[in-house]
Amino acid sequence: MVQFRFPRCCSRCLAEDPTKSFEVETESLEQPAEGKTVIATYTTEVPVCDKCHARFTRVSYLNWVLGSIGSLAVAGLVVYFKPTILRNDAGIPIGLGILVAVGFLGAIAWAIARNLNQEYFNWRLVRYDSRQLRLVFGNKDYQALFDEANG
Ligand SMILES: [Zn+2]
Repeated sequence: MVQFRFPRCCSRCLAEDPTKSFEVETESLEQPAEGKTVIATYTTEVPVCDKCHARFTRVSYLNWVLGSIGSLAVAGLVVYFKPTILRNDAGIPIGLGILVAVGFLGAIAWAIARNLNQEYFNWRLVRYDSRQLRLVFGNKDYQALFDEANG
């Protein structure tokens, strides 16, 4: 990925001398060859102030909580519509059964949290436009400063 020069202020609220940085993931569909499509993931670190960093950290925790609730809801639906899944016909050791269930729920929670995080941070904070090789910021004033520094 291209190296960018970041103006010395918070990329969310423009506070001066940001002390922290926040990592944001962007997914984009790419066509490396004719008739072939892949999902590419880019991570970008942008400068943010203490206050915005604390707020964004809370949001990503909250998305994990929502992801966990979502995965429990999925588990509830599976058990509701397929109660036989709880019957251990194959005689699987109980420890292994719990391990698989926890792994499954964790994977669902992770997928939900990741999607929510991308959705939120890509539009609030920053996303990477791989077609134009540029960063697109939620804060248009920061965008102007950034374009000037990288123009
Ligand atoms: Zn800030």
